[in-house]
Amino acid sequence: MKFTLFTLYPQMIHQAFDVGVVGQALKKGIFQLSTVNPRAWATGVHKAVDDRPFGGGDGMIMSPEVLHRSLKETLHGSTSHVIYMSPQGKTLNEKKCIELADCEHVVILSGRYGGIDQRLLNEWVDEEISIGDYVLSGGEVPALVLIDAVARKIPGVLGHQESSSRDSFARGLLEEPQFTRPWIWEGKPVPDILKSGHHEKINEWKMRMALLVTAHKRPDLLKDVPRKEIEETKKFLASLSAEEKHICGLPEGEDFFG
Ligand code: SAM
Repeated sequence: MKFTLFTLYPQMIHQAFDVGVVGQALKKGIFQLSTVNPRAWATGVHKAVDDRPFGGGDGMIMSPEVLHRSLKETLHGSTSHVIYMSPQGKTLNEKKCIELADCEHVVILSGRYGGIDQRLLNEWVDEEISIGDYVLSGGEVPALVLIDAVARKIPGVLGHQESSSRDSFARGLLEEPQFTRPWIWEGKPVPDILKSGHHEKINEWKMRMALLVTAHKRPDLLKDVPRKEIEETKKFLASLSAEEKHICGLPEGEDFFG
């Protein structure tokens, strides 16, 4: 799979993917990432890529012609899915990441200033994607978020693909709390079950904890969980000691499924 990102600030992208698990996968060629700076297609002494907005208003708008030429001459009519990172797009989620990881070539337009001329967007863009209901100064950080999240879904990118299937959202739930050594830290022990070596019981514990953490932090995600599972999880909650709840980040006295 390949990403091509159109950005005025390619240095922001390459630096970010120099590190970490996704950076390693990129170096190994498990997926490809290239950047295109539309400024290379700008003409005139100032190599301007923007202009004042028609109808007045503050700031500048990215001109359609420079971006158009850069897209046309880079893509040469090849089939690709073109995304504009935009606060006006649909918010990125797990389902969209899985869908995009299946594409052969994803092209991303990163805006700057007040955004991009609408006519260019009409001509080239298949979909607009947002990373949340707030406005950033440019599309580079949103593009980094999208590339990282999508790359994690490409087979071979994560060392242990299986572990990502337990990550938050992968099963529609949040992940259970995680612990590492020391066994007792500042007088606080890790729940006993995790030391038992009883894999079946540990998996059951992890599943119930994932349901409780989801009920506590994101109850909206529980709507498709069968009633029977909720009832079993309530029983599990009743069996926990106050200390275990505290260590697992679950507040005492909360009606998780209320
Ligand atoms: N004037 C635009 C508006 O109100 O919709 C916002 C322009 S913003 C300052 C500049 C660029 O940052 C946008 O063209 C877009 O590429 C990017 N951007 C800003 N916020 C974003 C978000 N929440 N998600 C994705 N991209 C975003």
